[in-house]
Amino acid sequence: MSTIQENVINIQELILKFANLAKRTASEIKLLAVSKTKPVENIIDAYNAGQRHFGESYAKEAEIKIPELKEKGYKDIIWHFIGPIQSNKTKIIAEYFDVVESVDRIKIARRLSEQRPSGMPPLEVYIQVNISEEPQKSGCSFSEIDEIADYIRSTDNLILKGLMGIAENTTDSREIVSQFSKLAAKFNEMKKTDTGITELSLGMTGDMQEAIQCGSTEIRIGTAIFGAREYPEHK
Ligand SMILES: *Cc1c(COP(=O)(O)O)cnc(C)c1O
Repeated sequence: MSTIQENVINIQELILKFANLAKRTASEIKLLAVSKTKPVENIIDAYNAGQRHFGESYAKEAEIKIPELKEKGYKDIIWHFIGPIQSNKTKIIAEYFDVVESVDRIKIARRLSEQRPSGMPPLEVYIQVNISEEPQKSGCSFSEIDEIADYIRSTDNLILKGLMGIAENTTDSREIVSQFSKLAAKFNEMKKTDTGITELSLGMTGDMQEAIQCGSTEIRIGTAIFGAREYPEHK
């Protein structure tokens, strides 16, 4: 078995362990393998360990990798876009992805709906919330969620599925739990009136335990599966 395959299996075991500690069921926590900057060979490797959900952050990179994998026969991968979205990249995202987790403004939602090709199923959307409230971070504020959610529900080609957040990069576990908990509370409130909302995307390599403790239904793991990324994350 390759290192990547072992890593996928190790993360699945950690999900099980952290779910047990949190008195939750592991099957309600999805693993998203974050393959940004990594070659298609690495994606195939993880695929062969049973991994099906993959996350990409750069439209230009995904525009090459996704069709290449489809041509090679890997047609049942569920592709999640998780990076900051510039207006001029919405067309690529609308055409290639199944899920977009980083919608944080109405303008982007409008473009994604308009550019979703007819004949494709609706694009599944999560609203990204800036839970750490750091000014340089993407995501809307808590006070903007309801308006963006209503807008997404009014579109023809988007379907609102959940919320996504990125905690501050800190070793202070209590601070991470505090940031995750606030979004979990909003998620639980929204679920009461919108049964289509099922996804709370929280947790990365460094904070997956806190995320699972706080109710995450999807952890986004890059480094612990594919190793450190080799080139800077701005393209
Ligand atoms: C890159 C990225 C991840 C993966 O981070 P790791 O620390 O490598 O696990 C998760 N979520 C988002 C939004 C990312 O951009």
